[in-house]
Amino acid sequence: MLITFCGVRGSTPAPGAAYLRYGGNTSCVAVAHARGEAPVLALDAGTGLANLSGLLDGAAFNGTILLSHLHWDHSLGLPFFRAGDRDDARVTLLLPEQEAGQGGSGEVSAEGLLGRVMSPPFFPIRPGELRGSWEFAAISPGPHKAEGFTVEAREIPHKGGRTLGYRISDGRAVLAYVTDHCPTSYGPGPHGLGAYHEAAVELARDADLLIHDAQLTAEEVPAEAAWGHAAAEYAAGLAARAGARRVALFHHKPSRTDDELDAIGQRFAAGPVPVLVAAEGQSVEL
Ligand SMILES: [Zn+2]
Ligand SMILES: [Zn+2]
Repeated sequence: MLITFCGVRGSTPAPGAAYLRYGGNTSCVAVAHARGEAPVLALDAGTGLANLSGLLDGAAFNGTILLSHLHWDHSLGLPFFRAGDRDDARVTLLLPEQEAGQGGSGEVSAEGLLGRVMSPPFFPIRPGELRGSWEFAAISPGPHKAEGFTVEAREIPHKGGRTLGYRISDGRAVLAYVTDHCPTSYGPGPHGLGAYHEAAVELARDADLLIHDAQLTAEEVPAEAAWGHAAAEYAAGLAARAGARRVALFHHKPSRTDDELDAIGQRFAAGPVPVLVAAEGQSVEL
């Protein structure tokens, strides 16, 4: 499995000279079955989704976009995905099935739900006007298959809309994708950074790579955790507890400069699990 970080920011893009090394685009991770093969899975569709087009050597995207949830930083890249918006593209887009009262499947279709932000007067076109063959559907917690991968979805506490974490396997390597995670909403846990609850631990269990929300630092948790995110220290702690081989700190706070991210990475230099600070354009082979 080859994963490529196409966008690593949380909340809103971070353009500017202080953010060039780690990159300013919002959440998107491309997954290919092997190095040299075209990515067939996109995890989230933040502004980083535009970078996925550059990985396809001019070809159309033929695959699945799996959204963790519908917040802007995970969905607003959709209309700017050139490799998906062309006549020969084939795209399945899966988004978390909504709970009753939040635009659930009985109320609004997956396409209708996306269309709430992607339609006039907010945007010139609707999801159904993207070129190529697009299918929009909801995904629920449980086991699934997509593009030759097995995908286990579990509900993750966040804020403002249902959020899923994913465990993706090709039968050899395992990638856990747990972004936008507010573990303090399940209690303080052993270090005040949030609970190491069952869904998080099971998603990350023995994973070759855990990509995890690291919007905060431990010092910021008391004041800011209520906004729905986790600390880098929690991500490293979860990886250690679940037996993950590596952890990638992801969904960086938009104001976090390159130098500050370097310093956060240094905190874990002597830790039990190797920690990488995800950077836009970086690939990891599993
Ligand atoms: Zn986010
Ligand atoms: Zn979010």
